[in-house]
Amino acid sequence: MAPNRKTLIEEFDKAGYELWLAGGLVRDELRKVPLSGDADFTTNAPPDECERIGQKLETTIAKIGQRFGTTGVLLEEGWAEITTFRGDSYIAGSRWPNVTFGSSIEEDLDRRDFTVNAMARNTVTGELRDPFDGQGDIERRLLRAPGDARMRFTEDPLRILRGVRFVSQLGFTIEPETKTGMIASIELLEGLSQERVTAEIERLLEGAHPAAGLEALREIGALPHLLPELATMPGCEQNRFHQFDVWGHTTATVEAIETEEVNLKLRRWAALLHDLGKPPVRHVKKNGEWGFYRHEIVGAEMAQALAERLRLAKHEGALLTLLVRRHMDRPDPDDGRLVRRFMRRLDGHWRDLLALKRADNASHTYDDNDYHDRLEAACERVEVEEAAMLQAESPLDGRELMALIGKEPGPWIARIKDRLSMLVLDGELAPGDKERASLIAQRMGGTTTMPAQNEDAS
Ligand code: ATP
Ligand code: MG
Repeated sequence: MAPNRKTLIEEFDKAGYELWLAGGLVRDELRKVPLSGDADFTTNAPPDECERIGQKLETTIAKIGQRFGTTGVLLEEGWAEITTFRGDSYIAGSRWPNVTFGSSIEEDLDRRDFTVNAMARNTVTGELRDPFDGQGDIERRLLRAPGDARMRFTEDPLRILRGVRFVSQLGFTIEPETKTGMIASIELLEGLSQERVTAEIERLLEGAHPAAGLEALREIGALPHLLPELATMPGCEQNRFHQFDVWGHTTATVEAIETEEVNLKLRRWAALLHDLGKPPVRHVKKNGEWGFYRHEIVGAEMAQALAERLRLAKHEGALLTLLVRRHMDRPDPDDGRLVRRFMRRLDGHWRDLLALKRADNASHTYDDNDYHDRLEAACERVEVEEAAMLQAESPLDGRELMALIGKEPGPWIARIKDRLSMLVLDGELAPGDKERASLIAQRMGGTTTMPAQNEDAS
């Protein structure tokens, strides 16, 4: 069993060091919301002392960013991150702060990013330090940079992204001077590492108020620097089926999409990217209205490129691309064959696509709920009653096909297997019917060429 927080506090006290709880937990305690996330502590103990005390506790410890002297200690309550008081000095515009250690809690709080994060509670006495009226800003629901706002962001432009991330997580707004400071430093975003940018964008997307966070990102002019594919969405007007421009529609979709913890990140990303293709394909239709023909195809290509640039995991990128590509699919729920093809194309993710379609529809001027309910019911029925058809395996494997047709292995095997599995999917060949499958395979693999209408079953 890992030691608890109380033990950690006692050990620092016994060793004669101050230990203050800072960061998110102090903020969230004062906001009176359930506490989550790692506990951030700050102390006058130097890094090697933090490590020594950590080791004494006989639990997992981790050195986090050695240059910054943070020690991670695994406690019963979760990870505690202990950082020696800082007195940072920065080389303007550089990516890495030139870290120096501070000598007091005041000095340490001075260099924190927002007033609501610049509070600390003494772990022994319970005393609260709040030099910039963070409590007042919690009441006003404001994100305010302590001190000279412009300086704060030139010192460390990552704070800009932390700020918009907090807009989404906390539902606070950015105080005007702070916003001006962010705007003045916006070009410095280009110098941040892709890993940190992507991590902050994802936290923003996963927050409780993602539309507000995205809107803040737009307002400070960050889109062209971080997500240029989205920068042409604001002002991209749509037609009478839509209440908003492409940007307003996109942020509304991100906000509306139904999620659970396991699919939160994927679904919010999918909602953000689903209409990427609209600005580049927009054209005037014969009736004089805006058209977006093939936007899901162009959008899928853009999503793929974006996922690669942001270094999302390969499987995430592939899945996002698939969801963008298929978001306009609209199979007839009464046609089992079309429903099964739809589900098969989505490779187990039809629920994610349906969630996307429902959210997409939420800001349209027409209501498609009835259609989505019917499609959902149809997919559920297929899953239960037609699992074998949906799985659509070729009744014959490669070995059996070679024995049957007597040809060397080659691409012809995959071609016949694909065809057979499609026939199963379409209900034209019973799953596991080797006899009929052999007849079809012989016809395809023998001397006769395939009739043209059988070429493509997808
Ligand atoms: P979360 O709930 O995401 O953990 P947090 O506010 O605790 O939010 P952390 O990244 O854990 O954020 O950082 C802990 C504290 O360290 C912050 O509250 C802030 O005071 C300070 N901090 C973190 N990053 C910076 C930064 N780039 N510039 C200034 N202060 C920072
Ligand atoms: Mg934290």
